Amino acid sequence: MPELPDVAVYIEALESRILGQTLERIRLASPFLLRTVDPPLASTHGRKVLALRRVGKRIAIGLEEDLWLVLHLMIAGRLHWRERGAKLARKNAPAAFDFTNGTLVLTEAGSQKRASLHLVRGAEGLRTLDAGGIEVLGSGLAAFSAALTAANHTLKRALTDPRLFSGIGNAYSDEILHRARLSPVTLTRKLNPEQIHSLYDAVQAVLTEWTGRLRTEARGQFPEKVTAFREGMAVHGRYGQPCPVCGAKVQRIRYASNETNYCARCQTGGKLLADRALSRLLREDWPRTLEELEDLPRRRAQQ
Ligand SMILES: [Zn+2]
Repeated sequence: MPELPDVAVYIEALESRILGQTLERIRLASPFLLRTVDPPLASTHGRKVLALRRVGKRIAIGLEEDLWLVLHLMIAGRLHWRERGAKLARKNAPAAFDFTNGTLVLTEAGSQKRASLHLVRGAEGLRTLDAGGIEVLGSGLAAFSAALTAANHTLKRALTDPRLFSGIGNAYSDEILHRARLSPVTLTRKLNPEQIHSLYDAVQAVLTEWTGRLRTEARGQFPEKVTAFREGMAVHGRYGQPCPVCGAKVQRIRYASNETNYCARCQTGGKLLADRALSRLLREDWPRTLEELEDLPRRRAQQ
C-alpha cells in the first residue's frame, strides 16, 4: 500500500503536472470505485486544479468551487501519467482523469477492488475522510508520545493505525521499528522515555530519508515503480536475508494476509516471536488486515 513517502512523491509529481490545469472530464470504467453520489462527478468537469493535498494515505485533488477528488490507492492502486485522452485498458483500469495537458490513469491490479474515489466539498468534506492520526513529520516529541501511549497497543498496531498516526503502513512501520531497535510486539505503555524518543527519531528519519530517496529515484518523471518492497529496505520484504546492521537473518510474523519482518538480534534480544503468548496478542492487538484498519471509522477526539 502506498504510504507517506510514496504518496508525497505522487503528490509532487501531480503538482508539477496538473496544478492550474483544467480537469476536462473523468472517465469511470468501474462504477464501484466512486463511493459518493453528491456532489455528482460531472460537477468537476471543466474545473481548474487549485491544490493537492495528502490526507493520510489518500491523495486529494482540490478543484474550483471547493470540490475535492480524494483517491485511496489501497494495496494495488497505482497512478500513471499518459498522453491526453489515453485509452483505458479493458481490465484493471477503473478510471481516467483527462486534463488539458495529459491524462491521469488509475490502475488496480488483482481481483480485489479496494481502491476508492470520493468527491467531497470543502474542508468539512475532507475531514470525513481523515482518520484523525497526527502528522508525524510535523509533530513534536510530546504530541507523538501522547498519541503513542493514548492506549496500550503493540507497537506494530499503534504505528499502522491511521487514527493514531497518518500515513504509516506495513512497510515503513517495519523499517521504523528496525531503526529504533524495538520489537513489533512491545506494548506502547511499556516503553520508557528513551525508547519513545528513539522511536520518534526513527519515524522522522525513516520517512524523511525514504521520501528523499523516492524523489531522487523518480528524477522528475512520474513515479511508475511504486511498491511496498524497495531495494535498500532493512527488513521489510527481506525474510531470510541478512540484516544490514548485524547480519542475522531477518525474521517474520505471518498473520492473516500480512507479514511483519524484524531482526531478532537488533530488536527482540534474539528472541523469535512465535510462542503462544504471541498468538494471543495477535488475535487481540494486531492489525488483522491493513485494509481493515484503513476502513475503521474515525476515532472520536475524546476516546
Ligand atoms: Zn540486525
